Amino acid sequence: MITKVEHIGIAVTDLDQAEKLYEKLLGVKPYKRETVENEHVITSFFKTGETKIELLAALDDQSVIKKFIEKRGEGFHHIAFATDDIEKEMKRLKSEGFELLHDQPKRGADNKLVAFIHPKSAGGMLVELCQEINNGHKK
Ligand code: ZN
Repeated sequence: MITKVEHIGIAVTDLDQAEKLYEKLLGVKPYKRETVENEHVITSFFKTGETKIELLAALDDQSVIKKFIEKRGEGFHHIAFATDDIEKEMKRLKSEGFELLHDQPKRGADNKLVAFIHPKSAGGMLVELCQEINNGHKK
């Protein structure tokens, strides 16, 4: 089941500058920065009530964020929905005809298992599913 919008992902070129901008915009400081090596990104998180804002900057030239910004510029990157059972949700979405970018959930930022849906199959939106790691969930 999808339970809420967990966060909105925003691609940025300069993480320091973007943190200052979003700090002014939201009136709160980022609560954490985290590097996700396997995704080649550095992330910074803001809490905005129930939902978070995730800033994503490229860690190196192999980063999909770098390619994304070259193509589309900075700004909206993905929407992330929380789910209470990511594997079940992936199966459901696959059976509904959505194209998942990978078969197994993978480790994402902010202590989450994540899976992405290809924007081609989701009306141009990059959609992330995420599930908090804990609650005795495997992996
Ligand atoms: Zn995300």
